[in-house]
Amino acid sequence: MAFESLTDKLQNVFKGLRSKGKLSEAEVKAALKEVKMALLEADVSFKVVKQFINSIQEQAVGAEVFGKLDAGQTVIKIVNEELVKLMGSETTEVDLKPGNEITVIMMTGLQGAGKTTTTAKLAAQLKAKKGRKPLLVACDVYRPAAIKQLQINGEKVGVPVFAMGDKHKPVDIAKAAMEHAAKNGMNLVILDTAGRLHIDEAMMDELVEIKDQLDVHQTILVVDAMTGQDAVNVSETFNNKIGIDGVVLTKLDGDTRGGAALSIRAVTGKPILYVGMGEKLSDLEQFYPDRMASRILGMGDIMSLIEKATAEIDEEQAREMTQKLRKAEFDYNDFLAQMQQIKKIGGMGSILSMLPGVGNQLSGVDMDEGEKSMKRVESIILSMTKDERANPGLINPSRKKRIARGAGVDISEVNRLVKQFDQMKKMMKQMPGMAGGKKRGGFGG
Ligand code: GDP
Repeated sequence: MAFESLTDKLQNVFKGLRSKGKLSEAEVKAALKEVKMALLEADVSFKVVKQFINSIQEQAVGAEVFGKLDAGQTVIKIVNEELVKLMGSETTEVDLKPGNEITVIMMTGLQGAGKTTTTAKLAAQLKAKKGRKPLLVACDVYRPAAIKQLQINGEKVGVPVFAMGDKHKPVDIAKAAMEHAAKNGMNLVILDTAGRLHIDEAMMDELVEIKDQLDVHQTILVVDAMTGQDAVNVSETFNNKIGIDGVVLTKLDGDTRGGAALSIRAVTGKPILYVGMGEKLSDLEQFYPDRMASRILGMGDIMSLIEKATAEIDEEQAREMTQKLRKAEFDYNDFLAQMQQIKKIGGMGSILSMLPGVGNQLSGVDMDEGEKSMKRVESIILSMTKDERANPGLINPSRKKRIARGAGVDISEVNRLVKQFDQMKKMMKQMPGMAGGKKRGGFGG
């Protein structure tokens, strides 16, 4: 699971901060040093980490937290806000030309990064969510297998593929594709360009030539999150040589330490547009800096979870749930309702990882175990009385004992759930935009 070790370490630091009452400047400094180590170990670039920690330090001083009772919470809040900022604060969407004007997107990246797969994923999303009529173009003339792969993927997502074999220059194929798109009423042309194992001049020249001769509106770079700092270096080089508009970070479903997600924006100034969360052609998610920050901090990615769950349920319920979350009125009934929805939709692995407290317990655990642990959480909630579920504050030690007995679990499991639930609510109150009801891109609420 991505970020696992980083999340564990940050949670430990935060636990330390929370457990102390007043914090001295030295204590905050020591905690920030641990945050720094955790980020460096997660492969975040040194320069980025240094600026990040300095900025938090300055704000902690500015907020005059030292010696105050809620110092720990304030520092955690600042860390959260800085993480969001580091990743670009706002969600950036792929820019499309208005109306029926043809938008040309050029997909670039090294071989194996996931470019061809992402090309098809992106076409499918822009078709479904933006009502575009896409055409995929096979410009990788060096690997016949790449053309075939694009054709197969195109077919899977119901998007036509334009190919001319491997005997033409990529720029000529792209030009012919433009004519084809215009003739057939298509308004989005996505070029799958050739990748190389390493960055080389010929590759860059080819991309520059396409950019010079076609009206390329968006240049998107696909990088593999598993390659850590390399992904950041590749982004920097591509941005300097050909200019990119945004990045898709693939394989974030894998066991990556996550540094790339945190460094790319800061190093290149260019946003992460999407993240690849699996090999299936539906596994492409819009990138939300705030959600990613809460995922990294181990508070669970509640918004994505609910979005996924509510894609299958009625809108009224979805809206109600978002409202509750924003006001932090979320109770155990809501939690239970969400879990029951989740059961219906499958994709357990990705969904479980978004649940607060469940995600980072999943390391090395097979999915059966994951589902079992979810069942136990469910049985704990079902052993609460109606009153307790609606008023989580009622749950005192003797009630916990009764609940544990009812659910047939150890009291420590009840304690853990209650604690995580409380933390999640606290976090929600602190998140920028949560309590105030700021409008979030892409989520109707
Ligand atoms: P290209 O050489 O850059 O075109 O890369 P491909 O699209 O052929 O992808 C290389 C491999 O990475 C394939 O096995 C893909 O299924 C896999 N892949 C691509 N994106 C993701 C992702 O987000 N998650 C995972 N787990 N695998 C991915």
